[in-house]
Amino acid sequence: MKRNRLLSNSPHARLFTSEKPSHSKRHHILLLSFLTVIGIFLTTIVLATSTPVSTDTQSQSIQLPGQSSQQIKPSNISQQIKENQALPEKPATAAENTAINAPAVDRVPVPNRQEVSVAEPAQLEQLHLQEAQREEATEALDETPVAVSPTAETEVSSAEEPSASLNWQEVTVESGDNLSLIFPKAGLTARDVYNVAQSGDSIKPLLNLKPGQILRFGLSQTDDSTTLEKLELQLSPIETLLLSKTDDGYETETLTREVDSRQKQVAGQIESSLFEAGLKAGMSNKLIMEMAHIFGWDIDFALDLRQGDHFKVIFEESYLDGQKFDDGDILAAEFTNRGTTFRAVRYTDPEGNSHFYTPEGHSMRKTFTRTPVHFSRISSRYNPNRLHPVLKTSRPHRGVDYAAPTGTPILATGDGKVEFVGTKGGYGRTVVLSHGGKYTTLYAHMSRFKKGMRNGQRVKQGETIGYIGSSGLATGPHLHYEFRINGVHHNPLTVALPKAEPLNAKYMAEFKQQSQPLLAQLEELTLPALAFNQQ
Ligand SMILES: [Zn+2]
Repeated sequence: MKRNRLLSNSPHARLFTSEKPSHSKRHHILLLSFLTVIGIFLTTIVLATSTPVSTDTQSQSIQLPGQSSQQIKPSNISQQIKENQALPEKPATAAENTAINAPAVDRVPVPNRQEVSVAEPAQLEQLHLQEAQREEATEALDETPVAVSPTAETEVSSAEEPSASLNWQEVTVESGDNLSLIFPKAGLTARDVYNVAQSGDSIKPLLNLKPGQILRFGLSQTDDSTTLEKLELQLSPIETLLLSKTDDGYETETLTREVDSRQKQVAGQIESSLFEAGLKAGMSNKLIMEMAHIFGWDIDFALDLRQGDHFKVIFEESYLDGQKFDDGDILAAEFTNRGTTFRAVRYTDPEGNSHFYTPEGHSMRKTFTRTPVHFSRISSRYNPNRLHPVLKTSRPHRGVDYAAPTGTPILATGDGKVEFVGTKGGYGRTVVLSHGGKYTTLYAHMSRFKKGMRNGQRVKQGETIGYIGSSGLATGPHLHYEFRINGVHHNPLTVALPKAEPLNAKYMAEFKQQSQPLLAQLEELTLPALAFNQQ
């Protein structure tokens, strides 16, 4: 197939196909000499093309969105063939489809090809071309000394696993699609859908397809039947669900690509803003935020930053097939604000908890603040046996109410992540924050959320998350605030607030051992010169 498309692009091919079929001897001689020329030409191409056309590994390769894979997938090849064979201003014909459906490495004449009864001249030319190439290929095989290519081809072929001869088809999931709608597009039947659906829980992702996902069908085809041998669904850039036919159904496995972590170190100085300096140093927005988050307990990045403040960061980046795929973790960082230097080192204890610590092993984190609203008064205290003011039934009051005018900012009491933002029955507009798993805080009756609040978002202690209101069951504008530990309500006013835990003493030796090289690395990092100093 490869030579097919190469030929159809070459000037030789144009010359060749312009020949009308003839029975004259002169034409036969001409034909033979052309075949020889093409044979040599193709030999060169085959030799020059070092990429094996199709191997099992490649068929499992995943292309990241927006990332050009260096590997050639069979489907890509089919696509290229399709593009190259598409005749100007003519829809795809049976002839072309036959060619496209042929296995990617087919180099053997296929008898049935001649039965294609499309009589349009351009397509006939195409067919003649294919036939000629096949004849030439067989001849070349017979005359091994002339052509080196058969050897190369044989090697390629023998390296291929049976699945490489599958015809791969890609179908992109559209809105409202399901397997019953998609399978016919690959020439499969309701029976095939049924067989796949019998494969157990592991095929769940196939039953919950999302628009834009790509299904790759590895089909084996005979004249009158199409068999689904393999089915691939990319679950993430790293994971692919693979269904393979067995003697009695299908088995599934999840293929995981290996992510390769690389360490990177940068240094920067603040000229106008933290973000500008961070980006200039080669950090992503996410990493800059992470750095601000690590030092956010000590430095108010909104108010305290000064020109000439500087930072050094050692972090990891994840790579897939040599291409950066995601940011990794910050391993160590240093921030100098107005002459005071703060250092933080990440440490993961044997239980898997990762935190940032000072070089001495103190936590970078601070405790919760006691009050979520400034300029407010407590209007209702924590009372497990209270009569509800609206429902007039005995309803425990498992929080503290802070009365304040509608629109007063509500502040996150601790550094955390948004676990819930939305309307929650009697609570009205509510935000729930989780703080490191064990602790959650709840803020209810808001008039509105802070713009852009969404699930999973990180918030810093003292950050505005919403505004006082009286949504839900409320007699007047106030904040209802709850503090839970492992899901159990506690009185926010009396609960022993968690102290930022220092490193457990038993891990100190290991921490020191791990942190020292990182701290030394930070020390050695040199700061870039400031632009305003250079002038
Ligand atoms: Zn309340």
